[in-house]
Amino acid sequence: MHKHHRALGLASPRSTALRGIDIAAQRPVQPVTLTRPHAASRAARFFVEKFPGRSMYAVKANPSPDLLQILWDSGITHYDVASIAEVRLVAATLPEATLCFMHPVKAEEAIAEAYFEHGVRVFSLDSIEELEKIVAATKGAGDLTLCVRMRVSSDHSKLSLASKFGVGPGESKELLMATRQVADALGICFHVGSQAMSPEAYGNAMERVRAAIVEAGVTVDVIDVGGGFPSSYPGMEPPPLELYFATIHRAFESLPISYSAELWAEPGRALCAEYSSIIVRVEKRRGSELYINDGAYGALFDAAHIGWRFPVRLLREPDSNARDVEFSFYGPTCDDLDHMAGPFPLPADIGAGDYIEIGMLGAYGAAMRTAFNGFGSDQTVIVDDEPMTSLYLEQVEEQAPASNVVKL
Ligand SMILES: *Cc1c(COP(=O)(O)O)cnc(C)c1O
Repeated sequence: MHKHHRALGLASPRSTALRGIDIAAQRPVQPVTLTRPHAASRAARFFVEKFPGRSMYAVKANPSPDLLQILWDSGITHYDVASIAEVRLVAATLPEATLCFMHPVKAEEAIAEAYFEHGVRVFSLDSIEELEKIVAATKGAGDLTLCVRMRVSSDHSKLSLASKFGVGPGESKELLMATRQVADALGICFHVGSQAMSPEAYGNAMERVRAAIVEAGVTVDVIDVGGGFPSSYPGMEPPPLELYFATIHRAFESLPISYSAELWAEPGRALCAEYSSIIVRVEKRRGSELYINDGAYGALFDAAHIGWRFPVRLLREPDSNARDVEFSFYGPTCDDLDHMAGPFPLPADIGAGDYIEIGMLGAYGAAMRTAFNGFGSDQTVIVDDEPMTSLYLEQVEEQAPASNVVKL
C-alpha cells in the first residue's frame, strides 16, 4: 500500500470572507466561480520539473484563456488541441505555443488550416484513411510528426477512453509502417483513460507499445503516454504522481527506440482540477436532498452523469457544530436528470440560504457548462487560499524553505 500523504484534505473551517469576495456580506444570488491561479501554476511547475519528458496541456480539460496564460507562464509550452476551435483559441491566446493536433479523427479542412495558418506540425491518427487525409490536406508535407494512436486498456481508470479511438493489437503493424513512410518523425500515442488510479495503467500500455514496435520493426521518435494523470477527490485518493512518472520513465528507457527518442505526456485533469471551485446557494432542503443553484447543466456535469464525488464545505459564520450527514443535490433546472447523488457530507443543520463551496471543479467542470434554462455562474473571483484538496501542496512546502521569512 502507498501512503497517500500528498492528498492533503484541508479540514480547517473556512471563513466566508475569502480574499476577493465576502459571501456573508454579498449573499450572491448566482453561483460564483472561484479560480486559484497559484494552484494551476504549482501543478504546471510540478509536471515541468518532474515529468521525465515534455508535458503538453490537454486543452479540452479547461480551455479558459486565463488558465492557458497561467500554464504558459509556468513553463508549459506545448498544447494538445482536439478541434480547429481549440487550435484557433490557443494560437490567439499564446502565439508562441506549439500546438499538437491529437484528435485521431479530423476534418480535412481543419488539418489544412492548422498546418498552413497556425503552424501545426504534429498530428495523431488511427487509420490509413486519416493518414491519407493528413497527407492530402498538408499537400504531402515533409515536416510532419505523426503519432499513431494505439488502443490500450482503461482498466485502472475511472473514465474509459478505450473503445472509441486507437488501433488494436495486431492492427498496428501496417499503419506504423505506412506512417513511417510519410512522417518526418514517427510517434506512438495512447490514452489510458481519465483519472488513472494506478501507475500500472501506463506500465501495461507501454508493454502494448513495445509489442507494436517489435512487430512493425520501425524506428520510433516519440512516445506519447497521453493524459489520465489523476487528481484527488473524495474516495479517489491516488498514489503520488512521482510513482506514475517513475513507472513511465522505467518503461520508456527499456523500449526498443533510438537514444534520441522523446517522451511526451498530455495531462489535462492533473494540471487544472485544483484551479477552480464553485460557491452555490441552497435554495431549499427536502430531507437529505439539497436544492442548489448549479447542477448537471452547469459545472456539475460529472457529478450528475457519472456520479463523480467532489469535496464540499459549508460556508457559514459562525461555523456549524452539527455533525456531518450525507446529502444529495438537485440542480436548478426543471429536469429530473439534474441530480447529483453524491453522497456529499455536510452539517446536519444545513438549510435554505446556506452557501456551499464545491471543490476541484477546474477540470471538466467549467469546460462543460451550458446556459440551459438560464442558470449558471455569472461571476468569477480570483482567490489565493488553498484548494480543498491538493496533490501538490506538500511538494511546494518542501521547496519553499524561505516561507517563514516575514515579507514586509
Ligand atoms: C482527454 C484527453 C487528454 C487529457 O486527459 P486527462 O485525463 O484529463 O489527463 C489527453 N489526451 C487526449 C488525446 C485526450 O483525449
